[in-house]
Amino acid sequence: MSRPSDNIDIIKNCSRCSRCRDVCPAGIDVPGMIEIYSLYKANESNETERMKILSAASVTEDCIECSTCTSCCPEKIAVMNMIRELAMHQI
Ligand code: SF4
Ligand code: SF4
Repeated sequence: MSRPSDNIDIIKNCSRCSRCRDVCPAGIDVPGMIEIYSLYKANESNETERMKILSAASVTEDCIECSTCTSCCPEKIAVMNMIRELAMHQI
């Protein structure tokens, strides 16, 4: 399993094919969360902005950790880890 700090690679490697969104049983717009995750990482030193960004990712709390998104990804990206990282920062 990749560490959360490795998840930044997701942003670079995602081809936006949307397969992960189509298969998610929780109905999470996973590619949309990748965009949010990118903003989240880009604002590492701005906690106020980060809180705003995270509020748009509250749907990640619905993730049931089934790993289907990671399994179907043609780019072999550990998508679920990114979703879990966003979910862990929800308050
Ligand atoms: S691990 Fe979470 S985000 Fe991925 S398909 Fe399952 S419910 Fe959806
Ligand atoms: S399946 Fe992989 S490559 Fe396709 S949108 Fe999801 S994360 Fe990106």
